Amino acid sequence: MDTRLLELLVCPICKGPLDYQRPPHAERAELICSADRLAFPVRDGLPVMLESEARQLDENSPAVGAK
Ligand SMILES: [Zn+2]
Repeated sequence: MDTRLLELLVCPICKGPLDYQRPPHAERAELICSADRLAFPVRDGLPVMLESEARQLDENSPAVGAK
């Protein structure tokens, strides 16, 4: 995937920056909004920027907000 494209993506809810996580660093390819604690899926290389499709992140998830 073109990572420059991903850098242009912002959260559709808060318009904040997203953290792109992908294997092997993450279990799956996702775009993370740490402010909303949502993970947007990346399917077939295409980010799905829909709140209804986003995964709610666990409060205690070690993968989020680690930076
Ligand atoms: Zn957000």
